[in-house]
Amino acid sequence: MISRIDLRGSAAASDAGGGIDRDLLPRAELDVEAALEKVRPLCEDVRHRGTAAVIDITQRFDGVTLERLRVPGEALRRALDELDPKVRAALEESVSRARTVHRAQRRSDATVRVVPGGTVTERWVPVDRVGLYVPGGQAVYPSSVVMNVVPAQEAGVPSLAVSSPPQQDVPNAWGAGLPHPTILAACALLGVDEVYAAGGAQAVAMFAYGTAECAPVQLVTGPGNVYVAAAKRLLKGRIGIDAEAGPTEIAVLADDTADPAHVAADLISQAEHDELAAAVLVTPSERLAEAVEAELKTQVAATRHVARITAALGGRQSGIVLVDDLEAGLRVVDAYAAEHLEIQTADAAALAARVRNAGAVFVGPYAPVSLGDYCAGSNHVLPTGGCACHSSGLSVQSFLKGIHVVDYSRDALAEVAAHVVNLAEAEDLPAHGAALKARFAGGEPDRHSA
Ligand code: NAD
Repeated sequence: MISRIDLRGSAAASDAGGGIDRDLLPRAELDVEAALEKVRPLCEDVRHRGTAAVIDITQRFDGVTLERLRVPGEALRRALDELDPKVRAALEESVSRARTVHRAQRRSDATVRVVPGGTVTERWVPVDRVGLYVPGGQAVYPSSVVMNVVPAQEAGVPSLAVSSPPQQDVPNAWGAGLPHPTILAACALLGVDEVYAAGGAQAVAMFAYGTAECAPVQLVTGPGNVYVAAAKRLLKGRIGIDAEAGPTEIAVLADDTADPAHVAADLISQAEHDELAAAVLVTPSERLAEAVEAELKTQVAATRHVARITAALGGRQSGIVLVDDLEAGLRVVDAYAAEHLEIQTADAAALAARVRNAGAVFVGPYAPVSLGDYCAGSNHVLPTGGCACHSSGLSVQSFLKGIHVVDYSRDALAEVAAHVVNLAEAEDLPAHGAALKARFAGGEPDRHSA
């Protein structure tokens, strides 16, 4: 079911030769570039026809006929009233832990006195209006409401809107589909009252261009499938985006001390998201590899989403990578740059401290990815497709802009004026220097010769 890639004895996994060829490692044939061509006309349509285009595209891809996109406040309240108390308690716990962690992340404004009379302050200002995407195609993700909304709220974003695909089997009084009730309930629990029934690229375009119903936003965040990732890539620039958070990935770096039943369960847990989800085990232990293969066979058969999991584990994005030792394993997981990385080895904390590329690292036997998906307090919107080598997961910081505020007195400016003039001359931009000289036209002595 799951393939093997044997890098033992391979120069590709040695530390000689400057890094590992990432093409040797499992990765989805997820082609965001190809999806770009599919979503470009959809986004253009939304740009020109607004709500009518979103409704038409939704009919085509979600099989739902909508009359309006905005979810009525009454539907949000009703969803919360009717929410299973056990799910409500779990969501409240998830929100509480996420709030604790994200509140502590917020950077404070910092003022640096560069010279007497000269300061630079970095002010952190929230984005004015954000669009938060909550996936809802194959699975529904009320947890992604929490992971988007909590950092935005903790950053102090004044206006936020959520969009999630309408579900075919959730009709309402207007004869149209709504997003899943648990998603609506999570929005209501968090005090979000602007919610739209739109998914995929059309939702991202609605946020970016704005429609008669939905004012445009400055930033779109949230995970989604390849079409959501492609639309974010396409519209980046018009809007800010968080990292591309596409089909989920788990890599497990494990040795003989790992419990194969746990490793297999964790691989399956992420394969459950999507046929394109990736599950990768990296290990120097042939014995563990065999035991995990056996566990996968029995455990997959007992799961609810057998077909989806079988496709994900059998795809070229998943595999068991055999390496010479844990040092080679560390190089492999760094090259892979997984969205989620579990370390299940004898000295997991020490290895985890050396990881350079991962969206989030889960240390030891009692920190499965499922914990991070819901209730660790960490964020589950994380970079995929290798983007973890340059990007971070969603955080309070994602919703803030740093503004440098420069405040210099006359004396402080005079002190450095000649250097500014000389650098301006060196760049052949004399008007820059003139802007300073104009301030000292009365004959202020230059502190350094110009
Ligand atoms: P989704 O909401 O991302 O996508 C559903 C939408 O895709 C639909 O509304 C539909 O309009 C659109 N669509 C479907 N087929 C299309 C086509 N052929 N052309 C254009 N548009 C089309 O929901 P999903 O599909 O269930 O995917 C959710 C994804 O989010 C999964 O891959 C999951 O792994 C991922 N995820 C990632 C993270 C992360 O942090 N990286 C977290 C949670 C979920």
